[in-house]
Amino acid sequence: MGQGMGGSAGRAAPVAAALGLDVGGGAVKAGAVLLDARGRLEPFLSEVRVNHHLEADGAGLTALCARTARDLFGRLDTAWPGLPVVWGVSAAAWIDPDSGAAVFSPHLMGWRHRPLPADLGAALAKATGLPLAAEAALPRPLDGVPVPAVVNDADAAAWAEARLGDPGMPSADPARPARPDRMVMVAIGTGIGGALVQDGAVDIGAHGMAGEYGHMTVDPSGLPCPCGNTGCWELLVSAEALAARAGHASARPALDDALSGDPRGVRAVQETGRWLGRGLATLAAVLDPTRFVIGGGVAVAGDLLLDPARAELARHIPGGRRRPVPPVTVASLGNRAGWLGAAGVALERAGWSVTGSSATGGN
Ligand SMILES: [Zn+2]
Repeated sequence: MGQGMGGSAGRAAPVAAALGLDVGGGAVKAGAVLLDARGRLEPFLSEVRVNHHLEADGAGLTALCARTARDLFGRLDTAWPGLPVVWGVSAAAWIDPDSGAAVFSPHLMGWRHRPLPADLGAALAKATGLPLAAEAALPRPLDGVPVPAVVNDADAAAWAEARLGDPGMPSADPARPARPDRMVMVAIGTGIGGALVQDGAVDIGAHGMAGEYGHMTVDPSGLPCPCGNTGCWELLVSAEALAARAGHASARPALDDALSGDPRGVRAVQETGRWLGRGLATLAAVLDPTRFVIGGGVAVAGDLLLDPARAELARHIPGGRRRPVPPVTVASLGNRAGWLGAAGVALERAGWSVTGSSATGGN
């Protein structure tokens, strides 16, 4: 289990709390945050990680989430009795924005077509022996169990990076007036996930499917993709693509090679970075962001990956000489972004305003 991180000494008493669960294909990561009266979040319990192999067993995965949430609820209730508590779940799934149902999920097969908010709320009620809280009432811990907010994992992570992450380098051109933040996050892992966050609000698209940047065609003569197209961006930039270039079965040793200066590893990361930059140029043409934030496991390569990406972006961005080129930085919240985002979105949906973080220096 996680350990308490946030001392309350010297801080305003919290007005609410939220649990976040980030449910990926192999593990559930979870934690809790406190919200103060100024709208700032502070991590309170961070972080629980439970490995699972329940991809095909939706009921088992739901029960695991309920047990994890029950434990966190109990610890919050002990520390802050009576504090309103909500919870949010970030899932590697296409989430219907109206119902919260998992419409499709290649990584969580058992959650396909499940009405997740109802399932998870009922499972937590069963695990705690408490009733489901009335939707209109602010839920108190262990008096009643609220229905969770359910969010796509890339959207949750992007929300957290935009609101709570390190804002990174200042605007590309300090002589220009500051713009509202328009952040595009690109998370590189098995595939590419992403999201556009305008002024702190995630643009999920008309059907909750915006941000599938990994399936832009970047090399029309490239390899066939399981999605039906050829030369998709994620085939050129994913962890697998990097591993193949470096002659490894997985990305981790390729990254280790590169970071220790091995020439083949360095070349593999640089080529991956160039393809990253090509795709960023297309995204810049379409979305005109103020900045790019790169997350996911491959981003640990840092500037070794990002310098060639920045160079390709500057070379290929339409109107490159006459427009600011968006800065490209590494995501700062690491693998906490998913559960932090789920917790934050849950607070917003319950009517609280979240302005930033008291712990990570954002906003
Ligand atoms: Zn594809």
